[in-house]
Amino acid sequence: MSPATPHPMIARAATTYAIALGSNRRGRHGAPEREIAAALEALGDVVARSPTVASAPLGPSNRRYANAVALIETAEDPAALLVRLKRIERTFGRRPGRRWGSRVLDLDIVLWSGGAWSSSGLTVPHAAFRTRGFVLGPLAALVPKWRDPLTHRTIRQLAQMVDRRHPRD
Ligand code: ATP
Ligand code: CA
Ligand code: CA
Repeated sequence: MSPATPHPMIARAATTYAIALGSNRRGRHGAPEREIAAALEALGDVVARSPTVASAPLGPSNRRYANAVALIETAEDPAALLVRLKRIERTFGRRPGRRWGSRVLDLDIVLWSGGAWSSSGLTVPHAAFRTRGFVLGPLAALVPKWRDPLTHRTIRQLAQMVDRRHPRD
């Protein structure tokens, strides 16, 4: 092994993750779109990102939503990355609360180039991403040919399937 080659036990190769970002509450950066922009800065190592899609409030909820998907490169394993994502959520002012409630920032691990991962409190691919148009649409624009390790379908196929089921979502 040449001196320039890192020892395999010490240096782990960077892997790619698809991260879903969501916000439906103003924070110290401003409106949900501003929180998403600031979260992308905080994540670092972003190699590609979708546009941020903002949706107008519907009904009495009065909440504007903003969503985006980003690809990041890191040598962290999924468990270590989740710890970091939760720390970022906290620094953005997210408080533990009801699932799906209003929050300044939500960061989910959707896919990992290393394949499937399961540990306590963490499942990758994200258990619900196959039915979420707001994740699959932006994701298909970034990595249409990646395959879901569970269903073996490509992201493009999954996005088309969710489109057919919910054409107006
Ligand atoms: P959903 O997971 O349906 O999008 P949510 O994002 O609102 O809902 P949270 O309250 O943010 O749910 O997270 C609940 C828990 O889900 C987290 O504490 C985390 O341990 C767990 N979790 C499991 N798999 C993942 C994943 N792939 N990415 C992020 N969190 C995950
Ligand atoms: Ca989520
Ligand atoms: Ca989450």
